Amino acid sequence: MNEYNFKTEFQLIVTAILLLTLNWYSQASVSVNEKKLFKAGAATANITPPLGMAIVGGWGNPEAIHIHDELHARCLVLDDGSTKLVFVVVDNVHLRSDLLDEARKRIMDDTDIPVTNILISSTHTHSAVSGSGKGSDSFDEYQKFLLSRFVDVVKIAINNMEPAKIGWGSVDVPEHLFVRRWKMKPGTPMPNPYGGEDKVVMNPGRSPNLLEQAGVPDPEVSFLSIQSKEGRPIALLANYSLHYVGWIPTGHVSADYFAVFADRIQGLIGADRQDPPFVGIMSNGTSGDVSNIDFSSPRWDKEPYEQMYYVANDVANKVFGVYGEIQYQDWLELGAATEILSLSVRKVPKRLIRRSEEVLARPDTVEPIHRHEVTYARRILSLNQMPDKIDITLQAFRIGSFGIAAIPFEVFAETGLEIKERSPFERSFTIELANGAFGYLPTPEQHKLGGYETWYGTNKVEEDASVKIVDRLMKLFNSLK
Ligand SMILES: [Zn+2]
Repeated sequence: MNEYNFKTEFQLIVTAILLLTLNWYSQASVSVNEKKLFKAGAATANITPPLGMAIVGGWGNPEAIHIHDELHARCLVLDDGSTKLVFVVVDNVHLRSDLLDEARKRIMDDTDIPVTNILISSTHTHSAVSGSGKGSDSFDEYQKFLLSRFVDVVKIAINNMEPAKIGWGSVDVPEHLFVRRWKMKPGTPMPNPYGGEDKVVMNPGRSPNLLEQAGVPDPEVSFLSIQSKEGRPIALLANYSLHYVGWIPTGHVSADYFAVFADRIQGLIGADRQDPPFVGIMSNGTSGDVSNIDFSSPRWDKEPYEQMYYVANDVANKVFGVYGEIQYQDWLELGAATEILSLSVRKVPKRLIRRSEEVLARPDTVEPIHRHEVTYARRILSLNQMPDKIDITLQAFRIGSFGIAAIPFEVFAETGLEIKERSPFERSFTIELANGAFGYLPTPEQHKLGGYETWYGTNKVEEDASVKIVDRLMKLFNSLK
């Protein structure tokens, strides 16, 4: 090797090192900038079933003969540059964990977003068709359709992602909330369907024996508002602890007040006819014991659908009333954590199993002691067939100083209030019927009162399940703090 070649080679090596260093610096500065770039995208997917399927949510299962308004899966994806969070809120009464586990897995396979960061919940409209299938291992046609739509809606929301800013607010709207479990005047008969006596009645009607509501509702409407960098609304995700409103004619498919709210808030904030479209979302809070019916005042004389428009428009107006006060942030940190919690299935006393077998074996001519006696005889026997333990998914999201808890039950308002109280975050809310549906979740105190939500079959898990769930959620919140 002569001197000339050596110098050339030396120069080449120095140049290469310089170039590599420069490249490393520029890559490092790009990744710092990307890390601080907040992005969001939203989308809807139509999940309206064909006419003729059975509508679930009430005691009968009438055939769908009319679509009043289309059903949707509504999706919001947030991205802080290193973590993505996915919300999918579905117009359905409840979706089971077998379907939602599969949906979250397929979304992960197609988008590389981990299942921990994907939250799918039902709105709890009582006027949609079943998404639970026949309970076998294979999904039915509507479930397969839902699975493909859930994956699609997330991919479309990702396609719609753009640099964004985020803020939040809340407003109390207590006037539509009534705890539907009532304590009654002494001496009022309160039979349960398996021969016992309760201390409260669910939906007692406008009885002269009403004493007081057996619980407190959570009046807060919390919401996240997401806008483009230029201030164009992208999405608003709200959370309110009210069951469905209803007053929907038999055989009609409707997304209930949840969809009316989404539509109304879009109009109020001037986000109609945008490209990409604005997405309003109303998630269901902790509404397991809270309905829209005030049994202490006279019955309304309202047209079908009138009440759901009334409630949704009023909630949207009140959210809009504080919408202008939202402080937006250009970037904040996102986080997600999940835990699979194993809960004991509630043990049915032997005498109730024997009693249920007797009820089902007797001739139809025997007068039942309760109008749901036969239904609950069946439910008790099927509860008794369940495994000793079930695994449920608990999930927590962090959005800056905001915490969101997700529980796969119909949760009582008092549990939601406790989560807000104990949360380490500045503000929090709970989305119920998230990532599964395992029935009602009364607190141990509410179990002592009895009533529909605590009956064997409507309630399926150990009586202190709500305590364990809140404790675990606080651990998840603290791990994200
Ligand atoms: Zn319900």
